[in-house]
Amino acid sequence: MPELPEVEALSAFLSERLTGRVIARVQPVAISALKTYDPPVTALEGLTVGPVTRHGKFLDIGAGGLHLVIHLARAGWLRWKEQLPAEPPRPGGRNPLALRVHLEGEAGDGFDLTEAGTKKGLAVYVVRDPAEVPGVARLGPDPLDPGFTLADFTALLHGERRRLKGVLRDQGVLAGVGNAYSDEVLHAARMSPYKVASSLTEEETARLFEALGGTLREAVERSRGLAAGELKAEKKSGLRVHGRTGQPCPVCGDTVREVSFADSSLQYCPTCQTGGRPLADRRMSRLLK
Ligand SMILES: [Zn+2]
Repeated sequence: MPELPEVEALSAFLSERLTGRVIARVQPVAISALKTYDPPVTALEGLTVGPVTRHGKFLDIGAGGLHLVIHLARAGWLRWKEQLPAEPPRPGGRNPLALRVHLEGEAGDGFDLTEAGTKKGLAVYVVRDPAEVPGVARLGPDPLDPGFTLADFTALLHGERRRLKGVLRDQGVLAGVGNAYSDEVLHAARMSPYKVASSLTEEETARLFEALGGTLREAVERSRGLAAGELKAEKKSGLRVHGRTGQPCPVCGDTVREVSFADSSLQYCPTCQTGGRPLADRRMSRLLK
């Protein structure tokens, strides 16, 4: 799933290609992805794009006072096409295409929104104000906002009884951090994902705040200038613990471990993060027996 750094890079990529261009045609293919009906998607046709921004993990393509807001979710992606086929796309079957946007001009360029797999999570909204999208309205502060300070972060964690792993990826607390980067931030901060947020000392809070900004800025830096098609591979290659179960920790060489849940898993390094003690995980202990 794309998180803050990938969506940031996608928005920069699109900003360069879309700003000032006119939307010629919008073709919804998977109707289930479309979450709004007023204004209709066709209201975007004939409007000039700008600006393209991001709210947490939501992409926001502005055009003539309207906003095409996109949440890629787990398996959604945006594919830039130098030349889109002229014939209308056919819905149904295993077609991963959810929405196609044609731009005006000779080139016939534009982009496709696609979604692989069966868990449909891709969501597309056409709104007059991005705050009309419930997921955008409830977003907490953006950790890369220059105005987001250690004092703000300290206030967010104050009285927070949940574990760090859950708090960091709660979009209502912080905008844009998901399962992958919460693992990475906790590894960089050398903290257990199970640590209760309100139990952090002043020093630990400062360390986590540094790790949060540092990890995300580094990832944004690595993704900058990459084409939409290259972002997924870049994200994967930049991760230190997330998705690397069984591989050596790049910091200390210990084996990266995982805790699995019904529909997700977290990865961590015992030496770096939990004083060398593996966290309880029934599935993992079965595997290691
Ligand atoms: Zn380690």
